[in-house]
Amino acid sequence: MKIKSNDKVKIIKGKDRNKEGKVIQVFPVAGKVVVEGLNLMKKHLRTRKAGEKGQVIELSAPVRVENVSLVCPKCNHTTRVGFKLDGKDKKRVCRKCKEFID
Ligand SMILES: [Zn+2]
Repeated sequence: MKIKSNDKVKIIKGKDRNKEGKVIQVFPVAGKVVVEGLNLMKKHLRTRKAGEKGQVIELSAPVRVENVSLVCPKCNHTTRVGFKLDGKDKKRVCRKCKEFID
């Protein structure tokens, strides 16, 4: 996955288009990420006891990784991610400023 936890990303599709947030969870198999505070879905909780009000909570739903763009921590631009060897390690690089991201 090109996107990892704690990355800053911008959503490029959907209702939260152009909003930025921090990645708090990644699902590599599903190709999805959860962005803090974005793509909120309302979830209704059932009442447990009579007379109690049902609650509505908001949760960040996963977003397809194709629908987000990484915001480079070095140059602050949205960018595609490349890979480059740093010694023996393959690390992510920003395609715009060529700096290592990790
Ligand atoms: Zn950059």
